[in-house]
Amino acid sequence: MLVVSSPSGAGKTSLSRRLVADHADLDLSISCTTRGPRPGEQEGREYVFVDRPRFDAMIAEDAFLEWAEVHDNCYGTPRAPVMAALERGHDVLFDIDWQGAASVAAQSPDDVVRVFILPPSMYHLRRRLEARAQDSAAVIERRLSRAAEEIAKWGQYDYVIVNDDFDHAYAELAHIYHAERSRRVRNAWLGPFVEDLLGQGTEEPA
Ligand code: 5GP
Repeated sequence: MLVVSSPSGAGKTSLSRRLVADHADLDLSISCTTRGPRPGEQEGREYVFVDRPRFDAMIAEDAFLEWAEVHDNCYGTPRAPVMAALERGHDVLFDIDWQGAASVAAQSPDDVVRVFILPPSMYHLRRRLEARAQDSAAVIERRLSRAAEEIAKWGQYDYVIVNDDFDHAYAELAHIYHAERSRRVRNAWLGPFVEDLLGQGTEEPA
């Protein structure tokens, strides 16, 4: 499980989506949210958009692996698709905030890698939020004031990437993913492989 967090506007969504697009066995966890869709967002692609009563019912059904209130809206990670992906041997990427990151890591401490994306400067962060032009000025101000709070959580993460250049930041994220994927403990097939290796002779295989 690869958790990617950042303040809104630091580029986490583009980086995450590219990593998922480039890796067939890495699935993106699609969250449920009570916030309304932004222009261009599609039901089931960015989020599953639900109303508050439905969200509360899902909490009551224990349907979320984790959920949190962010920017006055609720966001939650549906449990079932994550479990199904992991059972298929896929990895799962979560684009969630620091509260979700902490919760998922507490539930599966050995199977979670947390990456935090930082903007190169607060000026860049504001510019990116404004360029997105999907949120009102008041919403942008609220997101900026939350950004400092989120950035303060950087110490809870295993890796931190400064996104001053998309291609560099993406290469770093991909390196982290590949290295963590290659860890001995994450490759259960290695035990039988080595056992077989040690039982082999050195003659050329038929
Ligand atoms: P946005 O409204 O900009 O799409 O997302 C706001 C924040 O909520 C982002 O930091 C995003 O990562 C976080 N978020 C999205 N989905 C979830 C979720 O399922 N759980 C948690 N804890 N945070 C989420």
